[in-house]
Amino acid sequence: MTIGDELLLGFTVDTNAAHLARELAEIGVAIVRRSTVGDSASDIAKAVREALDRSDGVITTGGLGPTSDDMTKPSIAELFGREMVRDEAILQSLHERWARMRRKGPIPESNFAQAMIPEGAVIIPNGHGSAPGIWLEDERGRWVAMLPGVPREMRAMVSEQLIPRLSSRMSADGEQVAGNGPPPVIMSRTLRTTGIAESALADLLGDLGRSIDGMSPAFLPAVEGVDVRLTSRDLPKAEAIARLDRAFVKLREAIGRYVYAEGSTDLASVVLDLCRVAGIRIAVAESCTGGLLGARITAIPGSSDVFVGGVVAYDNSVKTEMLGVTRETLETSGAVSEPVAVAMARGVRARLSADVGISITGIAGPDGGTEEKPVGTVWIALDGKLSAVLGVRLFGDRSEIRARSAQAALDLLRRQLQSG
Ligand code: AMP
Ligand code: MG
Repeated sequence: MTIGDELLLGFTVDTNAAHLARELAEIGVAIVRRSTVGDSASDIAKAVREALDRSDGVITTGGLGPTSDDMTKPSIAELFGREMVRDEAILQSLHERWARMRRKGPIPESNFAQAMIPEGAVIIPNGHGSAPGIWLEDERGRWVAMLPGVPREMRAMVSEQLIPRLSSRMSADGEQVAGNGPPPVIMSRTLRTTGIAESALADLLGDLGRSIDGMSPAFLPAVEGVDVRLTSRDLPKAEAIARLDRAFVKLREAIGRYVYAEGSTDLASVVLDLCRVAGIRIAVAESCTGGLLGARITAIPGSSDVFVGGVVAYDNSVKTEMLGVTRETLETSGAVSEPVAVAMARGVRARLSADVGISITGIAGPDGGTEEKPVGTVWIALDGKLSAVLGVRLFGDRSEIRARSAQAALDLLRRQLQSG
């Protein structure tokens, strides 16, 4: 259960629920229902009571902070019939944290609310913030784990505290049910593809697109491409891994060159690794993407040994003066054209002394399209140690076309590096 008015209002996207679901699935904990409530004591208590009726335990995030809108603890304490009591250990760590941060003056009164916990609760330490988590359990073994809302703190506490606690609890339960063998786990694996539409990918896969070793693939389209995810739900861990391994061999073979990675690996990171192995340094010349390609590459730590730099050649004067694209080429072919893309790539490579220049020029819309060159027309070129040119017709709104252009440029580079 995620708690916070900001979630109900849509100002904050509920990433905590998704993170918890993924982490818990890996240890075989099934989430039977998910809910979101606002910062209202009665709503929180009501939702937790209902959730405990249909499950063994409830995990909440949010509403543990020091302000008056944070009422997770008292409302759940009341539901469990517990008093709020002051915890000396939390008080102590609050003082230590305050001293460490070298703040001037006394601790604000509101912070002391964090030292109040329901009677009989167990503290889940928070090594990354001031609000500790709380574990509360009733006589029948039903429990509520309360975690802070700040995603960074919540995530660390899930992996460091909650997962080990739930795992040991599950294996204790498992021992009670004798002779059952290891429990089934929910395990997913993702293959990342780009440069092929969802429907074309399904056609390419044929029967495999419906079922692979008893698992039905999920097709997850996004601007970077289509991810294909397989999930095993009914086997113990070791067998689930073996089944996913087998299925992935078939999947990779069927999809071939459209596959660029597994899991959540970014294409830019794949390209950087390939460049490093090939000893290639790159420079970019971007028009319609206005720096997106450079941003994608430099978002990856350690990109400096491959990425030299780039030129945002938005206005034609930059294309001519900085990149040496001739006025003649611009006039006869237009800024969005194969010859201009090629000249931009050559120009940036020479200007920045890189091994390979990569260029993007296109029409991102919503205006500027013509019959001959509609919105979404994009030219991408590589020049130098690798050379290639690609004309594509991308779809979507302005931001999608820009994002797809950067991805297509990275993929052109990947394919050249892998074929070379
Ligand atoms: P809280 O612990 O309720 O004070 O939450 C602190 C901050 O964490 C909020 O202001 C949000 O920015 C963020 N947050 C809370 N709940 C979530 C959630 N479910 N998903 C993502 N961010 C959240
Ligand atoms: Mg809140």
